[in-house]
Amino acid sequence: MAKRDYYEALGVAKGASDDEIKKAYRKLSKKYHPDINQEAGAEDKFKEIAEAYEVLSDAQKRAAYDQYGHASTDPNFGGGGFGGGGFGGFGGSSAGFGGGFEDIFESFFGGGGRSQNPNAPRQGDDLQYTLNLKFEEAVFGKETSITYNREDTCETCHGNGAKPGTDPVTCSKCHGSGTLNVERNTPLGRVTTRQTCDVCHGTGQEIKEKCPTCHGAGHVKERHTVKVTVPAGVEDGQQMRLQGQGEAGMNGGPHGDLFVVFRVEESDLFDRDGSEIYYDLPISFVQAALGDEIEVPTVHGKIKLKVPAGTQTGTNFRLRGKGAPKLRGNGTGDQHVKVQVITPKNLSEKQAKAMRDFAEASGIEVSEQEGNIFDKVKDAFKSDGKKNVNKK
Ligand SMILES: [Zn+2]
Ligand SMILES: [Zn+2]
Repeated sequence: MAKRDYYEALGVAKGASDDEIKKAYRKLSKKYHPDINQEAGAEDKFKEIAEAYEVLSDAQKRAAYDQYGHASTDPNFGGGGFGGGGFGGFGGSSAGFGGGFEDIFESFFGGGGRSQNPNAPRQGDDLQYTLNLKFEEAVFGKETSITYNREDTCETCHGNGAKPGTDPVTCSKCHGSGTLNVERNTPLGRVTTRQTCDVCHGTGQEIKEKCPTCHGAGHVKERHTVKVTVPAGVEDGQQMRLQGQGEAGMNGGPHGDLFVVFRVEESDLFDRDGSEIYYDLPISFVQAALGDEIEVPTVHGKIKLKVPAGTQTGTNFRLRGKGAPKLRGNGTGDQHVKVQVITPKNLSEKQAKAMRDFAEASGIEVSEQEGNIFDKVKDAFKSDGKKNVNKK
């Protein structure tokens, strides 16, 4: 047998106020109370009234009933269906509330599922802050403080948005559900979608006298400063979570978190990969050939590096412990020095002679050259077409 509509059972209109529902219930429950009324069916009637009142006196249950009818009071209501089980419940009884187009449309149109308690504590949003670091700051870490805008709980009203001494009341438009059902015609028929209540903006509570500080928002924008300890050895793109430094929560929920993202500036001298630092050391071919002690920059200061005689270009030297600290755990990486032997350009006459002597001593035959080939070709085709005879 079909269950009677709860509003009908209480003899009130669908849009009845909480007060009207309460009055109707009191009147009817007295009339049909089994202790008073001995008529046949009075007890059933009494139970029906009690059940109707239980649902309609509870803002959330009432909103769910308005949306889904008696299915909303089914103990399985809310299990399975579109929220948790995806589309597995499509049209089937496992949807828990009977399936049907309305429900499907609702999940398409952004209703996003069944009513959640709009006044349940909710964590605030997370925020992100980009912290620029110099190369050395990332290597050694640093203590700093950052300042940013965030929403914080209003201290005047402690977040409820009401003027001190007053309290928010249940929203008169949505009866506390925070949502309104809107009927719409679509090519597939009439569908009901749910929208956030425009009076209470989904909180289900209406503030008659607003807090003078936050104008009813419960939140205020603030410039918030927090200390940040950048750990030694962080790398570009890494991030750190500072718990509770995000935006204020709703209804007494905790703050969100702040994510500090590190952006590390490049160095003119060094490359870095984790705890290892790389440095290219340009040396003259003379130093490479004869050996030398050369000053090399590291992030820990300059140190002397012995380059042995006969060092080839591309040779790597490892400076132990001269890299970056390892982010987790102990120890420090190394600095890798890669030798780059520079061939001299534009030799003076004296230098060129020394080189020719060197070649002779080495038994190397070097063909006589004046400038480079390109210059020679240019010389040969001067605009007058005559060969340049100025040079010997
Ligand atoms: Zn306030
Ligand atoms: Zn409302």
